[in-house]
Amino acid sequence: MIQTDIIIIGAGPVGLFTVFEAGLLKLKCHLIDALPQPGGQCAEIYPKKPIYDIPGYPSILAKDLVEKLLEQIKPFSPGYTLGESAETIKKDDKGFFHVTTNKGTIHKAPVVAIAGGLGVFTPRKPPVLNLSEFEDNGVNYIIKDPSVFENKEIVISGGGDSALDWALYFTEKRKHSVTLIHRSESFRAHNDSVQKAIDYSQKGWMKLMLNAEVKEINRDENQKLNLNVNIKGNENTNIKCDNWFPLFGLTPKLGPIANWGLEIEKNAIKVNNAKDYSTNIDGIYAIGDVNTYEGKLKLILCGFHEAAIMVQSAFKHIYPNKNNVLKYTTVTGITGFDK
Ligand SMILES: Cc1cc2nc3c(=O)[nH]c(=O)nc-3n(C[C@H](O)[C@H](O)[C@H](O)COP(=O)(O)OP(=O)(O)OC[C@H]3O[C@@H](n4cnc5c(N)ncnc54)[C@H](O)[C@@H]3O)c2cc1C
Repeated sequence: MIQTDIIIIGAGPVGLFTVFEAGLLKLKCHLIDALPQPGGQCAEIYPKKPIYDIPGYPSILAKDLVEKLLEQIKPFSPGYTLGESAETIKKDDKGFFHVTTNKGTIHKAPVVAIAGGLGVFTPRKPPVLNLSEFEDNGVNYIIKDPSVFENKEIVISGGGDSALDWALYFTEKRKHSVTLIHRSESFRAHNDSVQKAIDYSQKGWMKLMLNAEVKEINRDENQKLNLNVNIKGNENTNIKCDNWFPLFGLTPKLGPIANWGLEIEKNAIKVNNAKDYSTNIDGIYAIGDVNTYEGKLKLILCGFHEAAIMVQSAFKHIYPNKNNVLKYTTVTGITGFDK
């Protein structure tokens, strides 16, 4: 059994920064994440995109932000349970929570901070038979490292920001053949991106197929993917490519956390934002994208703020008789934990 002061569920940017804020108060943390690596959405969905609204960084790649956060929390030697999802929680008669993962790892602590973001990542998949045979073998729902696909023939499906952003990204590299397939004529993506896609297709830089949907997938004798595409009012056509990215977004699924007796609203955990981001269960907090309250902004910097407030309350929960006075890091410095 792993014992700590705060169990943090979710090692996204907010979960990681919580370790730092807790460390300043000498509280030890253990992170649990269903993904095999820390970083949450930044690492899993958009590692190579620049973020422009992290204070102090005019621009930073999402993966670099994760690296910086990992470096920043290193002095506090957090524990990690990665590649396992937190499944169940129970409170013992001494007030300690026991969080058990899908692989049976048990964690015990007086405080639980849920920083589960969008929950366990579940991509929306197109209704194409035998799709699973091609997953991570020509078909990807998330593009982690675009350089892997250099000089490839690429087909992207979708009409939202993710599909358009990646179609434009690959087209602008001019090292790929790019086809964007969208099932209607109206897009959910930003107007600027849509206009760019239309311009690029008129210039012949990329192919745009509207009112079209991939219906079947196979592999030809040269190991190319063979996509059978239905275009409204026309006969089906076949497109050969190396990679197909159906980018229809991720379904936000809270997953097992939804069954923990927490107050849930619109697939997020309701918290007391006027006080400390506590939930309806004493000792359980929810911070970052996973929580909801009036005026909530799903931004990294807002999650960082929530983490700072939350750990102050967690300290009082763990040490009700101790007085904690806020001290600046410029005065205290960083004194971590011994390994
Ligand atoms: C394409 C894109 C661009 C973005 N750009 C910006 C931007 O420019 N600026 C900005 O501020 N924000 C941006 N965001 C939003 C930002 O990424 C999120 O606000 C941020 O990631 C939230 O951090 P988090 O730590 O709360 O959650 P997440 O990053 O979602 O991490 C949550 C983690 O919890 C894990 N988890 C969930 N449930 C469980 C469970 N039961 N057991 C174990 N692990 C679990 C997940 O696997 C995940 O790793 C962007 C998002 C996207 C998708």
